[in-house]
Amino acid sequence: MEPREVAEKFSEFFQENYYEEILKALEEGKSSVSVDFSLLEKFDVELADYLLENPEEVIPLAEEGVKKVLDVERDVRVRFFNLPEERNIRIRNLRSEHIGKLVVVDGIVKRASEVRPEVKEAVFMCPVCGTHIVVEQTERTLKPPAQCDCGNRKGFQLVEQKLLDTRWVVIEEPYEVVSGERPSEIMVYLKEDLTSPRMQSKTDPGNRIKVAGILKSMPRKAKGSKSRQMEIYIEANYVEPVEIEWEELEITPEDEEKILELARDPGIYEKLVASIAPSIYGLEDIKLAIALQLFGGVPHVQKDKSRVRGDIHILLVGDPSTAKSALMKVVSTLIPRGRYVSGKGVTMAGLTAAVVRDEEFLGGWVLEAGALVLSNKSLVAIDEFEKIEKTDQVALHEAMESQTISIAKASIVATLPAQTSVLAGGNPKLGRFDPYMPVRDQLSVPETLLSRFDLKFALYDKPNPEVDEKICDHIFNARHGDGGEVKPAIEPELLRKYIAYARKNCFPRMTKEAFEEIKKFYLDLRSKAEEGPIPITTRQLEAMIRLAEASARVRLSDVVTVEDAQRAIYLMKVSLRQFGFDPDLGKLDIDRAEGQKVTAAQRGKIRTVCEIIDELTQTLGKQIPEEEVVKRAKERGVENAEEILRKMLNEGICFSPKPGVIEKL
Ligand SMILES: [Zn+2]
Repeated sequence: MEPREVAEKFSEFFQENYYEEILKALEEGKSSVSVDFSLLEKFDVELADYLLENPEEVIPLAEEGVKKVLDVERDVRVRFFNLPEERNIRIRNLRSEHIGKLVVVDGIVKRASEVRPEVKEAVFMCPVCGTHIVVEQTERTLKPPAQCDCGNRKGFQLVEQKLLDTRWVVIEEPYEVVSGERPSEIMVYLKEDLTSPRMQSKTDPGNRIKVAGILKSMPRKAKGSKSRQMEIYIEANYVEPVEIEWEELEITPEDEEKILELARDPGIYEKLVASIAPSIYGLEDIKLAIALQLFGGVPHVQKDKSRVRGDIHILLVGDPSTAKSALMKVVSTLIPRGRYVSGKGVTMAGLTAAVVRDEEFLGGWVLEAGALVLSNKSLVAIDEFEKIEKTDQVALHEAMESQTISIAKASIVATLPAQTSVLAGGNPKLGRFDPYMPVRDQLSVPETLLSRFDLKFALYDKPNPEVDEKICDHIFNARHGDGGEVKPAIEPELLRKYIAYARKNCFPRMTKEAFEEIKKFYLDLRSKAEEGPIPITTRQLEAMIRLAEASARVRLSDVVTVEDAQRAIYLMKVSLRQFGFDPDLGKLDIDRAEGQKVTAAQRGKIRTVCEIIDELTQTLGKQIPEEEVVKRAKERGVENAEEILRKMLNEGICFSPKPGVIEKL
């Protein structure tokens, strides 16, 4: 098509379809007009196709067309939305064949540079004849004219430059197209009104956007010289914020039918428990808690406009070999956009957000989103929780309660969304639990951060012949059996849809009866816990409300019932008990901290025997005669030394490599 013909056709198109809008845009001082591509297609299919294939040439002609319509000299950008479906391309499928064409990509902003002025047009003066030469700037470095009409080729002086605002962002493929693989990324170049303050907040990290633009390439930055390898990026023409909600997951009428059937199933809670990491044996209470976490409570806005989170946070503290990490990894895949990170070695941006220097791609200071932001409105499993940096812990405090992450460094100031449920997993202070020390004293997570968790569970690796045998059989079945026993009750694919469906459509209200139930438990506990530190506060009250709401959501119920309240109370009791608080007695009961009865007196005696074994190990080596231990223990007032030793053997604190010989683990 001839350029003049294209410009004329566009001016005709605008006259017919966009006259009012262009007029209004000019009046309001807007610098762009948004055009529905489908209207252009209806107007002239050939022209529309020509635009898709040659945007670099056609968009400026379309802009000429706008000028003609109104007969003005002002530059007005033309931005196209509603491009044909087949132009939507997965980031990882972008190829050199797409270069120079209009494409549409969808992704979550992971990194973003500051908004910076860039030279758009530079005016140079020829040092020989004094002519002013205008050079449009498209490269990274300022480019002088190649030659003046007088023949001079060097010494051009910059006399004037026109600036435009620009921003680079990196977007990452959204979760629904990424199943387990590492998401691909692409750089997006935004300029002019796409960097306005309003658009800036919509293109900050954590936001999901749909970008229509021209795929371009530039040489990869290599020291000193141009690299042959090319970097591809999209020069954005139109940017549309995509609300991160649950509708992205396609739910067919058949899916919906299955979901409604599950929600009606009286055994649904057991089914959910049996669907979460079925290859991991037992842990029913924890799995129930996690199931409710996946469905989530309902966020509330209070009268004073403050927001109460609906997200449920759970902490698992456990011995190294308790399948904790495996469980966390599985859970992060059961919810759309869920992520798994490990506290060890995770950079600050890896978890929350950071402002970092990025000279390689974006240049200068860039804002980078971490897992909590990228999993906004979903879940992050944070393993090795105790190893996360102090600075990240501070950011977590904010994120877990107010559900945002604020950051201010260099010239970048931003508040990023982080409405994210946290499933944290940590190790005890000494690597593994000391069964004779209160669990509360064995956590290396600061108390203030600890209080952000709605439920906390301790996982022990204690020898128990009966359970051990079951675990063995379970592992065998998972690997070699017919799989019947370890098949999830609900397939992960359907479970994800079920969760998305419930989160999107169901917002249960608390009934008076259900609230009374929770209130009664809370007040009762508060009144019992008069002495000493009060382990139950309004935080637990709110936690139970959230859990009860989540329980109602499982049934897709509009109301929270007494049963939902009881389920929440049950989990709270389990959680309190595991951390050494007896909800029935209303007091801290360190004797029951590990879920079994060892009296304080026994504990003292076990300590004494442990000390003796340690002393003897130093003089006699690892293997110690049982007799010697018993003798010394009796000398130190442990009358029933034999009995205590037997208990220690049962508990796995020490073992007997051969009769009459004791060795400490
Ligand atoms: Zn000259």
